[in-house]
Amino acid sequence: MGVLALQGGFAAHVAALRRARIGAVEVRRANELEGLRGLVLPGGESTAMLSLLRRRGLLAAVSEFGRQGHPVLATCAGLILAASPELAWLDVTVRRNAYGSQRASFVAQSDDGVHDLVFIRAPRVDRVGSRVEVLARWHGEPVLVQQGNVIGATFHPELVSASQLHAKIFGAA
Ligand code: GLN
Repeated sequence: MGVLALQGGFAAHVAALRRARIGAVEVRRANELEGLRGLVLPGGESTAMLSLLRRRGLLAAVSEFGRQGHPVLATCAGLILAASPELAWLDVTVRRNAYGSQRASFVAQSDDGVHDLVFIRAPRVDRVGSRVEVLARWHGEPVLVQQGNVIGATFHPELVSASQLHAKIFGAA
C-alpha cells in the first residue's frame, strides 16, 4: 500500500499498516503510485496538502489512482481532499475544524461501540450523498463513510493500537 507522504500524519499510517502486516511505502512522486494496490490520504492540513499535490505534479495521478478503483482510506484532512472538487471521490459535504478549539482533540467511541475514535481538529460530515454509505456514527453524525472503493474517516484510525480498519480495507488481497 502507499501512504501519501507530502505532509501531515503519514508516518502513523505506515506504522498502522505494518502492525496489520501490510506492506507500506511512502508516496511523494507520481511514479511511486505505479503498481500499488491501495492508498492512504492521511490527516494534516488539507490546504497545505492540496497545494503540495499541485506543486509536485501529483494531483492528476492521485485522482486517477482513486478512479481506477483501488482501495483508498482518507482520514481527516484526507477526507476533506477526497470530498473536494479536485478529487470528488466522496459525495459528502465536509466542514473543516467543526468542533471548535475547545474540543480540538478528543477520544470517543462510535455509537455501535465498534470503533475507537480519536478526533484531532476534526471535520464534520454535514451532508451525505445518495451513493454514500455511512459505516459508523458518533452522536448520530457520520464519522466513517464509503463510496465505492473510497472510505473516509473524520477520525484517526492510525492512532489506535488495533489496526482493524486498515486490516479491513487493505487486508484482503
Ligand atoms: N483541520 C485540518 C484541516 O482542515 C484537518 C485536521 C486533521 O487532519 N487532523 O485540514
